[in-house]
Amino acid sequence: MVRKKKTFYLKTFGCQANVADSQRIAQAFVNNGYQPTKDVQSATVVIINSCLVRQSAENRIWGLINNLKKLKPNRKIILTGCLAGCIGQKRLSQQAKNLFQKRVGKGVEIIPTKELASFAIPPLRTKNDFALIPISQGCNHFCSYCIVPYARGLEKSRPFEEIIKEAQEAVNQGFKKILLIGQNVNSYGKDLKTSNIKHQTANIHTPFALLLAILHKIPDIEKISFLTSNPWDLTDDIVEAMSLPKIDRYLHLPVQSGDDGILRKMNRPYTAKQYLNLVKKIRQRIPEIKIGTDIIVGFPGESKRAFENTVKLCRQVGFEKAYIAKYSPRPGTAAFRLKDDISPEEKKRRWKILEELINKKNGAYT
Ligand code: SAH
Ligand code: SF4
Repeated sequence: MVRKKKTFYLKTFGCQANVADSQRIAQAFVNNGYQPTKDVQSATVVIINSCLVRQSAENRIWGLINNLKKLKPNRKIILTGCLAGCIGQKRLSQQAKNLFQKRVGKGVEIIPTKELASFAIPPLRTKNDFALIPISQGCNHFCSYCIVPYARGLEKSRPFEEIIKEAQEAVNQGFKKILLIGQNVNSYGKDLKTSNIKHQTANIHTPFALLLAILHKIPDIEKISFLTSNPWDLTDDIVEAMSLPKIDRYLHLPVQSGDDGILRKMNRPYTAKQYLNLVKKIRQRIPEIKIGTDIIVGFPGESKRAFENTVKLCRQVGFEKAYIAKYSPRPGTAAFRLKDDISPEEKKRRWKILEELINKKNGAYT
């Protein structure tokens, strides 16, 4: 008798961290005798790597689950990623967890990412562009609107040696560009003992700057990019390391708001002026750098004047591009307790103003 081959269909939502996790999940399933398929109808198992960052992302997951159940009622569906992370989190309130659990409904297995794939499993890289290399997991910052520290836990850095080995392996596979991934790459390694890594120049103080400098020495790497940098710990030695020739001349530096009161309520520890000074410093050292950002419009209590401050900051910086999001209350976060008092129409209006100012300038938006 011919045994039917086992196949998996993997759908990834959200950020590059999820994309990187999916590459390991895929390899783990291959190791267990499954083959990847793009045909959802015939797949033995469907795995959903979920994102919870906004309600709109969440809705796409519920829509997909409903469709899958209708398509093939008794098939195995695995839900992993940020939603599974939240349900397993001790820091998230029971109320929020119950809410997510209820939305998932029956007939879906919820399995945290780390139970499906660990860093010991090599990634199944598909696109022949950038090799994604996670350098840390989780986040310690707890911006008041953000579910990520609940979904992904506190920041945990991968050891230097492991990252360097993975970069070397990617190069051996033919990759010439690498993209380092962390929720806050600048704070990489603060939880590691770095004494066994020799500092190569006197000017390097932070593990992230050191990591950039070490990776930069791998001969066949042509370009090193990283996501995401946060403004509050982008220190001078990191700026210095960024000036090395193979480091990407695009820097993603989320500002979220240009209003000091809103930044405080968001638990973002900088002012608009400090952000502008940082941009100035980076441009002085690396004049050709292009800067992109993330902005949230319609955070609770964002007055028209507060929004104008964001518009003003955007004009001053001249961002290359921006991911502009309408504020979406996330259960269990600190901001969830605040009244979501900016109407959807007003959020849309503010979104459009920034979208036109930054992303549609000269009709260049693609
Ligand atoms: N670690 C990155 C990315 C976090 S999530 C960082 O620190 O910037 C990606 C983006 O989603 C954020 O930068 C923010 O702009 C947006 N975002 C996060 N939570 C949100 C929420 N509740 N509502 C709207 N946008 C949100
Ligand atoms: Fe979320 Fe803030 Fe952490 Fe980024 S730094 S992942 S926005 S809590």
